[in-house]
Amino acid sequence: GSVFSHLVQAPEDPILGVTVAYNKDPSPVKLNLGVGAYRTEEGKPLVLNVVRKAEQQLINDRTRIKEYLPIVGLVEFNKLSAKLILGADSPAIRENRITTVECLSGTGSLRVGGEFLAKHYHQKTIYITQPTWGNHPKIFTLAGLTVKTYRYYDPATRGLNFQGLLEDLGAAAPGSIVLLHACAHNPTGVDPTIQQWEQIRKLMRSKGLMPFFDSAYQGFASGSLDTDAKPIRMFVADGGECLVAQSYAKNMGLYGERVGALSIVCKSADVAGRVESQLKLVIRPMYSSPPIHGASIVAVILRDKNLFNEWTLELKAMADRIISMRKQLFEALRTRGTPGDWSHIIKQIGMFTFTGLNPAQVSFMTKEYHIYMTSDGRISMAGLSSKTVPHLADAIHAVVT
Ligand code: PLP
Repeated sequence: GSVFSHLVQAPEDPILGVTVAYNKDPSPVKLNLGVGAYRTEEGKPLVLNVVRKAEQQLINDRTRIKEYLPIVGLVEFNKLSAKLILGADSPAIRENRITTVECLSGTGSLRVGGEFLAKHYHQKTIYITQPTWGNHPKIFTLAGLTVKTYRYYDPATRGLNFQGLLEDLGAAAPGSIVLLHACAHNPTGVDPTIQQWEQIRKLMRSKGLMPFFDSAYQGFASGSLDTDAKPIRMFVADGGECLVAQSYAKNMGLYGERVGALSIVCKSADVAGRVESQLKLVIRPMYSSPPIHGASIVAVILRDKNLFNEWTLELKAMADRIISMRKQLFEALRTRGTPGDWSHIIKQIGMFTFTGLNPAQVSFMTKEYHIYMTSDGRISMAGLSSKTVPHLADAIHAVVT
């Protein structure tokens, strides 16, 4: 017998498992609203034009080689990524008190940041939102941190539980790490207002709580790179320290290239240099050095003014299509006279709508309408199109009446 014969079959990942089930369904009307990836009006994955151009430029460059990158990745990519998230005029960049390392997309950046904190930060507790992206608790637990939650979402209003959030962060042990979704909160689509962010910032700084931003959707929420980065920039502007995990999966459509960055903003250049030296000790035994291709694409786009502008237009078009899907779905439910208040569909932002549908309702919609989503009722607006909105609206109408 095999030495592994005692293993039990592990469950499918709750998010990726939705696609597995969808692929098995032979129905021609099936609809996958589980995937956290952009789709065109035709339901197809999208490679941005600007990415194709950058790749062509890389192919044409015969001087390019495929040697290993340094442990910290592509240095130009790191500099440009810090500038993109913090703003070109950021005091932290000007004062050289930031270290940025290329990591394996958002997930890898969170993991490296988590392990660094577990090793070198005095507080080992990280607070994550309730609910949050399903991978967060696993990433930080395996990184060696203790995971606790803070209240975030209010099912009654399908909006922010701001009072609960302030109470829970106010009661956290001084110095605790707090994971903040920079924009387009996953799975709820509910973000604090700028005024609320300012209150969160004041509270966190007064208690010495350490902000760890997860920025997986910069530009994808509002359509503006600067608007979506605003909360992070507020925390950097006060001179305090923070961590930022950036992903280029959604905003540049580079999902499978696994390109992202971890930045740690410090109080001085001297500290930032020592932080970077320790980050290298975290990365080297984990995967040695990051891949070269995706980071090169990003660097080509970010360094060239014309390509950069072209990117912002393509990004805005993706964000706008998602916002338009929100309006269309909301209208379709109104037209059908579907009972209940569905205004959260247009109030929530980013890739997902937290519909408020319960697991039994989700299961009904999958069985009767071949519509696939996570059991918490989260639907990907990016997976919808004008053609499929009526089918979804019919299903929602049927399940609540
Ligand atoms: N953080 C959040 C909130 C996400 O939704 C995602 C992707 O779904 C990620 C991080 C990381 O994604 P990736 O590792 O593909 O960059």
